[in-house]
Amino acid sequence: MFTSINIPQLGIRYEQPVGLFINNKFVKSKNGSQIDTINPSTGEKTASFYAAGAADVDDAVKAAKHAYDEVWSKTSPSERSDLLWKLVELIERDKKLLAALETLDSGKPYHSNALGDLEQIISVTKYYAGAAGKIGLGKQIPISQDKYAVTFQVPYGVVGQVVPWNYPLAMASWKMQGCLAAGNTIVIKPAENTSLSLLYFAQLLVEAGFPPGVVNVVPGHGGEAGTALASHPNVDKVAFTGSTNVGKLVMECAGKSNLKPVTLECGGKSPAVVFEDAKIENAVEWCAMGIFYNSGQNCTANSRIYVQESIYEKFLEAFKSHATKTWKFGAKRDPFDEDCTVGPVISESQYKRIKGYIEHGVKEEGLQVETIHELPPDSKGYFIQPTFFTNVPQNSKLNREEIFGPVAVISTFKDEDEAIKLANDTDYGLASAVFTQDIGIATRFVRDIKAGTVWVNSSNDEDISVPFGGFKMSGIGRELGEAGMETYLQTKSAHFNITV
Ligand code: NAD
Repeated sequence: MFTSINIPQLGIRYEQPVGLFINNKFVKSKNGSQIDTINPSTGEKTASFYAAGAADVDDAVKAAKHAYDEVWSKTSPSERSDLLWKLVELIERDKKLLAALETLDSGKPYHSNALGDLEQIISVTKYYAGAAGKIGLGKQIPISQDKYAVTFQVPYGVVGQVVPWNYPLAMASWKMQGCLAAGNTIVIKPAENTSLSLLYFAQLLVEAGFPPGVVNVVPGHGGEAGTALASHPNVDKVAFTGSTNVGKLVMECAGKSNLKPVTLECGGKSPAVVFEDAKIENAVEWCAMGIFYNSGQNCTANSRIYVQESIYEKFLEAFKSHATKTWKFGAKRDPFDEDCTVGPVISESQYKRIKGYIEHGVKEEGLQVETIHELPPDSKGYFIQPTFFTNVPQNSKLNREEIFGPVAVISTFKDEDEAIKLANDTDYGLASAVFTQDIGIATRFVRDIKAGTVWVNSSNDEDISVPFGGFKMSGIGRELGEAGMETYLQTKSAHFNITV
């Protein structure tokens, strides 16, 4: 159930679990099916792991239900807090290895991205270790002289969670830590391309002392294991992060099975709006980071950049010059090297999809395109040059669809009214950014933008204590901060008649 993996760049050799994690044990899938995980920076196979089918998901749900009924629902918040604090220590101990697994599996640069993911995972674990028993408390409500009511915030029971590949362990941690602190048990499915880190992490849960069945990990194909989880009648709530199309399917499965509540964190096409009075270097740095970090594979990527006409040319020049200096593949195009700040995209299919958008922009729509850094024709892996299109009409496919790669669209606007219209002209509503020194413009933008997050003079700058989630087709519900625990609690009201 383990395979040796060698990461020569860091001098690491370790034993990687490759089974499904059910009841604190790694097991084979019942039908023996496996998935290969590919290193996107080379296109070569790293390892194979077992893929759960519906019968395996059923076993995992049984384990989670048993653990909830017999053990976890009887723990106190302080016991859950202690376990999470122990987990913090273990993540800190193994953070370099966990970061290395993220780089190996997803291609994200080790120094500039993956280690940062681990710092966030540690922070989120600390936050919910401290939050157990402090967030989501009930109320006492006076009704009359003879009656009062009490509300309790109680866990759902078994929670199913499905996560994507762009921040594999971070997205899992946004979901799991608050859910555990709230007192639920979990069956979680990582993405097909990036299951290694969560399987390794499962061992830390055992070492920390989490009882069997409290967390179960079922790697597998979305259409099979993901569907089975979202449809399972004994899963009491499902939380999903991924594309809007799959989010709709998850909601359908939830509705058709047991009407389980759903949290959805879905896609985006987020605008960044730069007014003529903005500090231009600041705007350029944040906007470039907001589209090129993680090779643009961010749900909140500011993929639509609108710049006021009077500073458009100046902005484009500064953007290109800054991106050329900052966003680089590195000499060896090895995401483990310190000089690599732009890694490959996740897979061959994403590579082809993103290239398809670039070709469409150039060939079908005849748009002007700029690329940063050339790639040698023989280069291995799924690297895509940071790219931006200029003077793009609002109805262009590039302005409408989530590309999920290092591709920005930079267009102009005349005035404040037009800026907010263009920014809101999308089916999505995950995030947004505005750059200005005028408090009036900033405040009106915050008021009028239809998005779950708005950054003023920054972009893609999440904090784990602040609620996060989307308007419109970007999702339902919130994660992180207090919301990240409240979303795993439901209200029970008790009425007391004190006349007897
Ligand atoms: P995806 O929707 O293809 O897959 C996400 C997860 O869902 C994977 O684990 C996949 O196996 C699973 N899945 C696929 N089909 C399923 C089905 N029918 N039923 C249940 N589960 C299924 O998304 P992706 O390509 O992995 O990730 C990219 C998308 O995720 C982008 O749209 C991005 O914007 C979004 N995303 C959103 C957030 C957020 O917080 N809003 C964060 C990260 C990524």
